[in-house]
Amino acid sequence: MRESTASDYTYDSSLEERLSEWRALRDYSDAERRAAAQALLAEMYGGLALRPALHRHPGPHGYLTKDFLLHVYRQMVERGEMPEDTRILQALRMKPVRTLSGVATLTVLTKPYPCPGKCLFCPTDVRMPKSYLHDEPGAMRAEQHHFDPYEQTAARLESLESVGHPTGKVELLILGGTWSAYRRDYQAWFVRRCLDALNGSVSSSLEEAQSRNARAARRNVGLVVETRPDRITPSELRWLRSIGVTKVQVGVQSTQDRILEINRRGHTLADTRRAFGLLRAAGFKIHAHWMPNLLGADGPGDRADFAALWEDPDLRPDELKIYPTSLLQNSDLFAHWERGEYRPYTYAELVELLVSIKPTIPRYCRVNRLVRDFPAHHVVAGNRRSNLREEVQRVLASRGLRCQCIRCREIGAQPVRREDLRLEELVYRAGRAEERFLSFVTSEDRLAGYVRLSLPQSPGADLGWPDLREAALIREIHIYGQSLGIGDLGPPGTAQHVGLGSELLSHAEAIARRRGYARLAVISAIGTRGYYAERGFLDGELYQVKPL
Ligand code: SF4
Ligand SMILES: [Zn+2]
Repeated sequence: MRESTASDYTYDSSLEERLSEWRALRDYSDAERRAAAQALLAEMYGGLALRPALHRHPGPHGYLTKDFLLHVYRQMVERGEMPEDTRILQALRMKPVRTLSGVATLTVLTKPYPCPGKCLFCPTDVRMPKSYLHDEPGAMRAEQHHFDPYEQTAARLESLESVGHPTGKVELLILGGTWSAYRRDYQAWFVRRCLDALNGSVSSSLEEAQSRNARAARRNVGLVVETRPDRITPSELRWLRSIGVTKVQVGVQSTQDRILEINRRGHTLADTRRAFGLLRAAGFKIHAHWMPNLLGADGPGDRADFAALWEDPDLRPDELKIYPTSLLQNSDLFAHWERGEYRPYTYAELVELLVSIKPTIPRYCRVNRLVRDFPAHHVVAGNRRSNLREEVQRVLASRGLRCQCIRCREIGAQPVRREDLRLEELVYRAGRAEERFLSFVTSEDRLAGYVRLSLPQSPGADLGWPDLREAALIREIHIYGQSLGIGDLGPPGTAQHVGLGSELLSHAEAIARRRGYARLAVISAIGTRGYYAERGFLDGELYQVKPL
């Protein structure tokens, strides 16, 4: 075996750093820090921006942190020493990016459980659900809460709220191995407990938790699970719909049967195509995972593999996570590396690959990630850096190239006026449907919102579900702008509040009517049912449906 060298290991100290910062923050007795914070907040109230204010009042042990400032701000407001100021509050939100898409995403992990997959690259850690490592930050949090969904959800809500994030609209992202491999009674229990935590009350059944959530202050506006292509069947999708799932993350990994086989994925491209067809027919949002640098792959092969995601009309996912293979000691791939059969790409090779594929991503797709962020000390060889995205964006810009995916075009919290937006309509064929991606964009090509309208060739035939008979489907509506509490009007001009959603919906309705569909069905989450009900959609069995 090749000896490890010091350069093979870089230690992830960020968690320790964050923990010690947090410990330091618990000590609120420091009068000097408090005085500095009060002076800083007073200047911000007077109009000074956060950054210069931080420089002017460094505090006794370095710059004051945002959550300490927020804590002091809250106290000052409570004691009447300072009036509420939404501008200050917004500036102090720790990671505004977390809610910029209009929704707070909250991740929860399922319990350790075996996965039917035998994938070569996938790590095994008996303390964790398959594919997770015990010292990944998200996994550590789950373990602290004994993988209890209620506790995990409640703790995440608390931490988001403690730094001033609105939690009125929550997308739940359930991660861990293969969701469909867990027993259904566990799945139903898991979702119920997440909803109970959002509702702040314990219910006796999933149905009860769902109906409470439809009117709760913190609503579930999206539910995401991850599974394998070969687990997707009509009956599985029916089940997922009944528990409220709106988006499915599917491990595609490769579009070549040869690569799938060598890496022991246990499914073929035909399975992936069939899975995507069913998901699309059922109106789910399709989120693909794709992996370059698998065993047997090389740069040109990976480029062709990636191109097939878009060239093959039976694929064309809505969202994408690119997970370059990480060589981990507790995966079966490790033995191949020891025998010299596998070589991880270098950082530079990876950057080049990503720079070459990013500009080819269609405008209807959102790339959520470019790297699976395993703690660096687990990565035996190859890339350990998690700043890949920034580096790729930098190189793209330096070559005058650009990625046009949804994520790279999102408008964020920037104020927007309706008259500055134009409606763009992108039409593409996908599986047995014609997809219409309708979006509002600014003159600088910033995306303020979009709707995914699916026009199936033989509506309802693939699944035979009554709700979908003769129906066109709304698979997603997304409007950007700082996430706001339900009923909160928010700062004027934010995209969520210039009626973009309603406008997109009427365009979609008009198209579907013109094309002869009798009805429009929407795959709504528990917490968005009210929104669609107000717009004429009636509750069906698994969807909300509007006669056209
Ligand atoms: S299906 Fe997913 S979780 Fe299961 S072994 Fe393969 S990669 Fe790991
Ligand atoms: Zn992009």
